[in-house]
Amino acid sequence: MKLIFLPRRVSQSLTLDTSKSTHQFMLMGFLLLPFVLGGLSFWIYSSSLKQASETQLMDQWQQELARQAANVEQTQQRVGDELSAMTAKVAELQARLMRLDALGEQVTQVAQLDNGEFDFSRRPAVGGPELVSDTYPVALSVLDKHSSLQLMLGQLVTHIDNREQQLAMLDKQLAARDTRMQTFVAGKPVTKGWMSSSFGRRTDPFSGKQSWHEGVDFAGNAGVEVIAVASGVVTHSGRKSGYGNIVELNHGNGYVTRYAHNDTHQVSIGDIVEKGQVIATMGSSGRSTGPHVHFEVLKNGQPMNPERYIYRASL
Ligand SMILES: [Zn+2]
Repeated sequence: MKLIFLPRRVSQSLTLDTSKSTHQFMLMGFLLLPFVLGGLSFWIYSSSLKQASETQLMDQWQQELARQAANVEQTQQRVGDELSAMTAKVAELQARLMRLDALGEQVTQVAQLDNGEFDFSRRPAVGGPELVSDTYPVALSVLDKHSSLQLMLGQLVTHIDNREQQLAMLDKQLAARDTRMQTFVAGKPVTKGWMSSSFGRRTDPFSGKQSWHEGVDFAGNAGVEVIAVASGVVTHSGRKSGYGNIVELNHGNGYVTRYAHNDTHQVSIGDIVEKGQVIATMGSSGRSTGPHVHFEVLKNGQPMNPERYIYRASL
């Protein structure tokens, strides 16, 4: 076949022999063949290289994964062990708290306090099988243990907060009661001695006339300790006409006690004294026939019969 091109400008036609071009093409192909083969073998070589490095990477990756998995397992084991230890510790704390509750309850009962305000037997919501670590099934996951532990810790915190408040209230009540007990006028004003004169009408030992005795007398040996019958503040410590050396204590709630005819004083005005504290020694100062303590109890300024206070039971 012959193709004849007839360009307008060129007068003669251009003839292309196809058989010739086929030859040319084949020749060109032949010349290019080494390059093509070279490229192809390079491609195969490089892709095989790539494959080899990929396999190597995969191996490395798998090894790394295995290492990581072992690490995770180890960590999980360690965390699990630690959690178990902590769970046991929390359970121990809960047990101790329960013993404290029992103690608080006992104190409330012994002190005969109104337990309506603080009830140690009423426990904040605690418990469940997670209380004792030994009961944990082995299969329980670390996460389950963790959340159980968190729950236990939360309950423990609530329990402690609650008990803290209750114990503070108990302390306040006991302190108030202690103050009441301490300032409660009761008992004898001497450690040794006997009552030698009672309250009220009597024959005056000096004049021999009927008179009114505003206290009671405790006779004893000179130097015997004179003690405060209740805690209070020293409002007088010195001489007073008729009384000799006298100590006066104010106990609050309108109560005042007086201890007269003392030999020596061991307190000064403004001192705070405790119940049973030695405030003076027995003497015979003032209008006195011998060593004794003249003891008065005043309520709102009125002399009361001290015997009612001496022999009354403590709160
Ligand atoms: Zn007297």
